[in-house]
Amino acid sequence: MLLEHNAIIKDIRKVDLRFASCYPNLYRSAMSSLGFHIIYDFLNSREDIYCERVVYPHSKSLETGTVLKDFDIVSFSLQYEQDYINVLKMLKQGGIPLQKEDRNSKHPLIIAGGPCASSNPLPMSRFIDLFVVGEAEVILDNLLDVYLDLDNPKANLDAFLEIEGVYLPDHPVKMVTVPDLMDACHPIRQVVPETDEKEYIPAFGRAFLLEVSRGCTRGCRFCMAGCIYRPRREMPIKELLKIAERGGNATGLNKIALIGAAVSDHSKMEELCQGLHERGFQVTTPSLRIESVTDNLLEILKLSGLKTITIAPESIWKVRKAANKSITDELIKDTINTAFKHNLNVKLYFMLGLPTENQTDIECLGKYIKELIKMGKRKNQVRISVNPFIPKPHTPFQWEGFNLDELKFKIKYIDSHINLRSFKIENPKTAFIQYILSMGGRELGDLLERSLTEKVSIREWSKFAHKWDMNEELPWKNIDVGIKDEFLKKEYKKAINGNLTPWCEEFGCYNCGACNKQSN
Ligand code: SF4
Ligand code: SF4
Repeated sequence: MLLEHNAIIKDIRKVDLRFASCYPNLYRSAMSSLGFHIIYDFLNSREDIYCERVVYPHSKSLETGTVLKDFDIVSFSLQYEQDYINVLKMLKQGGIPLQKEDRNSKHPLIIAGGPCASSNPLPMSRFIDLFVVGEAEVILDNLLDVYLDLDNPKANLDAFLEIEGVYLPDHPVKMVTVPDLMDACHPIRQVVPETDEKEYIPAFGRAFLLEVSRGCTRGCRFCMAGCIYRPRREMPIKELLKIAERGGNATGLNKIALIGAAVSDHSKMEELCQGLHERGFQVTTPSLRIESVTDNLLEILKLSGLKTITIAPESIWKVRKAANKSITDELIKDTINTAFKHNLNVKLYFMLGLPTENQTDIECLGKYIKELIKMGKRKNQVRISVNPFIPKPHTPFQWEGFNLDELKFKIKYIDSHINLRSFKIENPKTAFIQYILSMGGRELGDLLERSLTEKVSIREWSKFAHKWDMNEELPWKNIDVGIKDEFLKKEYKKAINGNLTPWCEEFGCYNCGACNKQSN
């Protein structure tokens, strides 16, 4: 049995609403997701609500073993498209009819949030009653109040449309985010698994998750999070240090994982890491943006226990420019050498299939990766991870297609030229299905449902692959995430011509629309 520290137990007779917060992926991923901790902490701070967690492959809550059908509201966090099928498995196993038409007033209200719900939830619209577009703190409270006020909430879904950020297909919605992170939820008593079993240990190890910032304005043209969660918002360092101290005491953890889309862009990053180190914390952080990695920062991170830094060159310089990553080969090599100086390992992320990439570029990429691996002073000091590029909604690359055969060929080429154990690549078929689910509409509901009981062939999936034309209406046209279509179109054209758009925080605003995002 899994033992946890800080799980919340309430008397179910004393609450008005029971909420199941579901994560359609394994426990270790769920507990690595700060959003999952936020919903738990935020909702349980209300006395009238009991929020319990349900994590795939289970359909009963971790807190009381309650099966999904017995909750009032069942909410799914949609982080990745490949989790959609797990949502259906959880519903089925939890005693809830899959299609919303087959459910009645006795069944729970099924809602979904997270990045996929905010960008293009249409493939899941057959199964989900309402989508939450934006950040949970500014939507959930109102949603629960409306639910509690209604006699039959499921028969009155329109009443929820009054709430900013609630989406039903065919009804336009504006994404809502927290303008000032001081008003966001910063969970202190985070749940920690009390076990050493690997399958339960989160991605950053046993660490307290500290949210440094939200959003990123660097403008990588493939990055959906960078487009939909703009603008960048950061927490004051004084507050971060206070939260870390309180969190350390409440969880007994002495390791801090810094969380945010662009952690190293925090204006006081060095000071923050220094402060955490002085307070006796080890510090770990996801990928660092190369421009903001300094010698001093790496020294502090090394002192605070970091062993590996992760950076993302993505490709060779020509393709990198199309993707709007303005980091030069020289800067990448300098950063790797600085990391070696501090005896750190380096993990490098690359993408295959980015727009403008041709066969010559792939050959150059193979050579380039080899060169970087050779820089390592010892075996496996440089590790490589290669992911297929997948076009995403609300990005300048939303008008790109996905060529599975070409991708397979490129993977084969890179694999045969590098052929090292330190090289990891994602399955191209999985990436292709992810592409179809990212870019498709309601018509995918049928295929998703069939995938539950039979193996749907790639040929069948491929019938739904759609490359959108700039003049076509996109399925997610009703979801306004702030960034304007005109800006995305301009960016796409610049990408094809290999032109960069320098960072708006340094070089001035391009009026992309995100800073006018409506918020409450
Ligand atoms: S720096 Fe990272 S988070 Fe920011 S836009 Fe680029 S890929 Fe996205
Ligand atoms: S509106 Fe201007 S400053 Fe704000 S994110 Fe867009 S380009 Fe950057």
